[in-house]
Formats: sequence, structure tokens, C-alpha cells
Amino acid sequence: MSALFGGVETGGTWCVCALARGPGEIEAEEEFPTGDPDATLARIVEFFRAHPGAQAIGVGSFGPVDLNRGSATWGYVTSTPKPGWRHVSVAGVIRDELNLPVAFDTDVNAAALAEYRWGAGRGVGSVCYLTVGTGIGAGLIIDGRPWHGLVHPEPGHMRVPHDHERDPFPGSCPIHGDCWEGLAAGGAIAARWQATPAELAPDHPAWALEAEYLALGILNLALVTSAERIVVGGGVLKAPGVLGMIRGRIPELLAGYLEAPELGPEIDRYVVPPELGDRAGVLGAIALAQDL
Ligand code: ZN
Repeated sequence: MSALFGGVETGGTWCVCALARGPGEIEAEEEFPTGDPDATLARIVEFFRAHPGAQAIGVGSFGPVDLNRGSATWGYVTSTPKPGWRHVSVAGVIRDELNLPVAFDTDVNAAALAEYRWGAGRGVGSVCYLTVGTGIGAGLIIDGRPWHGLVHPEPGHMRVPHDHERDPFPGSCPIHGDCWEGLAAGGAIAARWQATPAELAPDHPAWALEAEYLALGILNLALVTSAERIVVGGGVLKAPGVLGMIRGRIPELLAGYLEAPELGPEIDRYVVPPELGDRAGVLGAIALAQDL
């Protein structure tokens, strides 16, 4: 029987803990709202005391985070706007309380690793995982490893062209205004149209504008990372027709510049929905622990 590993996804809204041998062999799982850091970390520790046996624990966290193993603040959530969570140690507390090795990464790098290993990213060497929900985040797997680089990828805050005539909305990012997240995340849709994405009919002009912004950003991701597959998830992408509009628009925007069929007639197997659904984050945390 393969070894047991622990996985923790600390999201901005929800935390998920799991003890598992792999995606089909989850021994225990628990989900609870992300509260203040002390209470949340205590609950995580409590879960693994109640469900012992993990060889190591992986943590996928909302960010920004410090992923540099040589840094004094490795395993911290750093410059987040989330109240109470600025400069908070996450991985170190779990490691010290449970006396187990802990792997630490972003929630989106964890989800990218899970999709790469067990989901929609199987069969290629590099995968970009994008989630468009309340915010926009992306993780990147290169040669089977989560990419960190200088900090970690944060494409939600890159700039994309903003046609002020078509879209006078100034953007909703508290830091940048009309960065990609400020124009295209669920929070931006709600602020621009004064309605939640679920309240907007499929033929509402909101969706064509949304698909335009997402196509622009996803093409940027493809051009910068050259990832061999882009997995796109999150609540906004579940809206009917949006993925189809994005797939139609990317080849038009590229205008034949690259001779990659994945960015042309074969776009349907390049920009793909996730296979692991809402479990990707916590399964990716298990994968991080396996790789430690
Ligand atoms: Zn921003």
C-alpha cells in the first residue's frame, strides 16, 4: 500500500484538509471557512492530530507567499490585502506543531501540479493552470515542477489592453485599478454590471467583453510561458459559452503569427477545462508532499 500524505489548501475563503494516498484514495477530508490565522492554523493542526499517519504535508496557500527555502520568512503569507493575514507564518507553524516535513507553494501552483499529474494536464511537460473566480490566479508547471522564479507567477495583475470607449469601467483591483483581475475577475463583473455573474443572462454583453479580456490574457500567458497546455477553471469560466468565445478569439488575436496548431485549429485541446474540479488545490497539496 502506498504511503499516506497530508494536503492543505488555504484559500482566501475556504480551507480544505485531506489525508490521502492519491486522488482516488482519500482517507479523510474536511473543509471549513478560513478565519483569522490563529484559529485557522489551530484547526488544520487539529485535523492532522485527529487523522494521523501522514509522511509529510503539502500546503497550497493563497498569496502572495514566500517560497524561498533559504528565506527567514519561508512559508509565510506576505503582502496580502486579506485582513489579519499580512506576514503570517503558515508552513512553519504546521511543521513545528506536527513535527512533519512540510512542502509549501501557492494554491494555484498546487492545482496546476494536480492537473498536470492526474487531470487535464496529463501527457505534456508544461502546464499553466488559470483560475478566474473572485480574483485571477495562475500556476505554472515546467518539467514536472512548480515554477517559482523571482517570487511566483502573478498574471492576475498584468495589464491587458483596456478599450475605455467600449468599457468605461475603471477596474476593481484595489492596487492597480484596471489590471487583468481588475477588469475580468468575478469581482470586476459584479462591480461593472451591478449583478453577480450568475444573474447575468448568457446573451448579456458582459460575456462577450469577459471573453475578450480572458482571450487577451490567456494568449499573453501562452506567448510568455509557451506552456504546452492551459487549464482554465474557476466560477467565471463555468458560465455557458464563455470558453467557446475565448477559444474562438485567441487565434484571431494571434493572427497566424505562430505555426502551432494548438493556437489555431486545435485550440480546443490546448485551452481546456480542469478535470479535478474544486479538489485540484488540495490534491495538488498532496502531490507537493509526495514530491518532498
Ligand atoms: Zn491588480
